[in-house]
Amino acid sequence: MSYPYAYEAPVSQTLFDRAAAVTPGGVNSPVRAFRAVGGTPRFMVSGTGPYLKDADGREYVDLVCSWGPMILGHAHPEVIAAVQAAVARGTSFGTPGEGEVELAEEIVARVAPVEQVRLVSSGTEATMSAIRLARGFTGRAKVIKFAGCYHGHVDALLAAAGSGVATFGLPDTPGVTGAQAGDTIVLPYNDLGAVRAAFAAHPGEIACVITEASPGNMGVVPPSEGFNQGLADLCRDNGALYISDEVMTGFRVSKAGWYGIDGVRPDLVTFGKVMGGGFPAAAFGGRADVMAHLAPAGPVYQAGTLSGNPVATAAGLAQLRLLDDAVYETVDSVAAEVSGLVTAALAKEGVAHRLQTAGNMFSVFFTEDRVTNYDEARQQEAFRFTAFFHSMLAQGVYLPPSAFESWFVSSAHDGAAVERVAAALPAAARAAAEATA
Ligand code: PLP
Repeated sequence: MSYPYAYEAPVSQTLFDRAAAVTPGGVNSPVRAFRAVGGTPRFMVSGTGPYLKDADGREYVDLVCSWGPMILGHAHPEVIAAVQAAVARGTSFGTPGEGEVELAEEIVARVAPVEQVRLVSSGTEATMSAIRLARGFTGRAKVIKFAGCYHGHVDALLAAAGSGVATFGLPDTPGVTGAQAGDTIVLPYNDLGAVRAAFAAHPGEIACVITEASPGNMGVVPPSEGFNQGLADLCRDNGALYISDEVMTGFRVSKAGWYGIDGVRPDLVTFGKVMGGGFPAAAFGGRADVMAHLAPAGPVYQAGTLSGNPVATAAGLAQLRLLDDAVYETVDSVAAEVSGLVTAALAKEGVAHRLQTAGNMFSVFFTEDRVTNYDEARQQEAFRFTAFFHSMLAQGVYLPPSAFESWFVSSAHDGAAVERVAAALPAAARAAAEATA
């Protein structure tokens, strides 16, 4: 397949060539490289509200929002002001600071099951640390995860993971040893029977079940009615911890994340993305009796030179404090409008598809049937997404460069931005209809 738009970005192409010489694959995180869709990744130079500008001077309506964090749009004036004020006071002290306390208090106030929280720098660190804590607390080794759920690039959690691992169709990755993955039990998503059977097969051995609160890393595949509650019940009945990974959903789909939507109480929760306001900040937290096992209060070691960094903390706190009911109403209604436009355009061209939503997260599967797990997600005609993606990109709309990722909007996506998306959709839907494998 040729990509007619690949070289319409000469400055990005030059930067990508330079990058490839000094960085593996030319990127610092695999899905950015456009490998699933082909063509030249756009090197962005600035973002304002719902728009990104690339190195060739082209503007895009951004439907990725940095993979979730930019819920207020780019360069929100109040977030920028908080960051500038923090930077002016110094960028890192390696001591405790009031900003960390305030951010922790904000998280604890928003998500009822989270009584204590520890700040880290990435979602990966959050899930890695939560798993270690669950193992340390229970004295057990095994972890249940679900195929298609991505929890960052933690060795033990890369088995049958979503996101980039799904995009590239990797079954798992070299470099993860049998010992590291050997205690990971991978089960099909939305299958409580499989979880029940795993607990029965490994009595007293399972430390925790970790699940995306509502998965967005195999495309958007929400939990079936009762699935999360069933997981929480099975964990409680079997002495295991229930870890809800809210790195993507946390503070995005509601004030209290997915917990604010389904109300199922996890023992531990992981956060990232939105809570960092566009900076590297993440967290894990939960029951105080479990968190008390963490060093220096308890024996489970966990640490970080830049954990609770004052600039990242200021950005996250400023963003979280702006996220009131009105913001979520706006983001929800933009998501409903954009997803409605997408499905209408595809339907008009007779393209078989499923638009799936989870709060204000959504994605399109190019398949007729509802998608409830990773196997079903992989049945879609991803080549239609490729054609759709490139048409949208050429018309100035930036989508995630993979058919296995959630789309994200922000409260800055106003009528003009939505209008631009609407204008691009008919041609993109036609491209999807005409695409061949
Ligand atoms: N957990 C979930 C649900 C995610 O979506 C991600 C990243 O996309 C992570 C964990 C890892 O976060 P990070 O990329 O900040 O390490």
